[in-house]
Amino acid sequence: MKLFLDFELCDECNSFIADLTREDSLLLDDIARNEISTKFMRHLTYNHPEVIQAIIKEVKIQKRKPEFDLYK
Ligand SMILES: [Zn+2]
Repeated sequence: MKLFLDFELCDECNSFIADLTREDSLLLDDIARNEISTKFMRHLTYNHPEVIQAIIKEVKIQKRKPEFDLYK
């Protein structure tokens, strides 16, 4: 599933993205990377509810398509 999100990144978002994309983060293990992703998602949930709404809306639209299978 592909999601295209268009929203204003705040300073905190930018620092999460910087953490996830900077070169030495490739050296982090999956657990550390997952932790950053989880914190980022939590930040989005509390600070950018419009993003979560957009994701939920998109998931509902894709669910209605016959080729979309949640359990694939
Ligand atoms: Zn933010």
